[in-house]
Amino acid sequence: MANRCIGIREDNGDPCQRNASGKSEFCYQHKGQEENYLIRYAKDDTYFCPIDGGELRYWPRGDARLCGECEGLLLNEKNIDPRIQCIVELPKAEDEDERIGCPTCKSDSDISVGENLMTNISVEWAEIVGGGQWTSGQVFRGVTNVGYCEVCGSFWFNEIGKYDDKGKRVDDRGIRIKGFWTKGVWRRNITTWLDNHDMFQEHNQWQMRQMRLQKIESLGKRKIQIYCNHIDSATGIQCGIRKSTKNTHDADYCYKHQPE
Ligand SMILES: [Zn+2]
Ligand SMILES: [Zn+2]
Ligand SMILES: [Zn+2]
Ligand SMILES: [Zn+2]
Repeated sequence: MANRCIGIREDNGDPCQRNASGKSEFCYQHKGQEENYLIRYAKDDTYFCPIDGGELRYWPRGDARLCGECEGLLLNEKNIDPRIQCIVELPKAEDEDERIGCPTCKSDSDISVGENLMTNISVEWAEIVGGGQWTSGQVFRGVTNVGYCEVCGSFWFNEIGKYDDKGKRVDDRGIRIKGFWTKGVWRRNITTWLDNHDMFQEHNQWQMRQMRLQKIESLGKRKIQIYCNHIDSATGIQCGIRKSTKNTHDADYCYKHQPE
């Protein structure tokens, strides 16, 4: 019986299901992958998702590694496109709690002295959902953390998640913005993304942030009244925790952001 091709599908990184042809370890269609050491040695070179522990598979079209569980994406190639590399110039996120360990450093036994935590960088995103020939669709906007490893230079892109009709992140109900990085930004080619050239450039990020904040503002004064007055300095987002009702607390802030 012929062996299974050790190649992978260019479009999504799934293992090829065809048989290898002749003496080759690859099928006819994946013969071109023979020279690609990233594919040939993929099995010796495994990385795991820092969120759910799923295996990150090499995805040729995006020259990236993808988590099949959550659609998170790891970029750890030597030459990262300057249009992506410029993310390091963007504001760092304030929230230190959610820093994740770098998947690249973790898999490299030579440098796994402890766990290298990635720096969180705030990146604005926008996506049109449900547009068609006669309908314009709905624009969802948000901000997400992109992890950057100061040691090895890897980037980790979290999956975007689920949003309700007000653009607020929800856990189970609501619109799922699926494969934003993989099917959206990477596939559409980041230069043409939403007609914005270079979405990660500082001025475009600034513009997207203004549009997101305008939307939040128009959504209501109600939120401003119920929730803590603390504004995250990096993202410009108001704290989502209710104001404290404890009589020793400042009634304008939550328990976490009480003024000193
Ligand atoms: Zn194949
Ligand atoms: Zn994952
Ligand atoms: Zn690293
Ligand atoms: Zn607060």
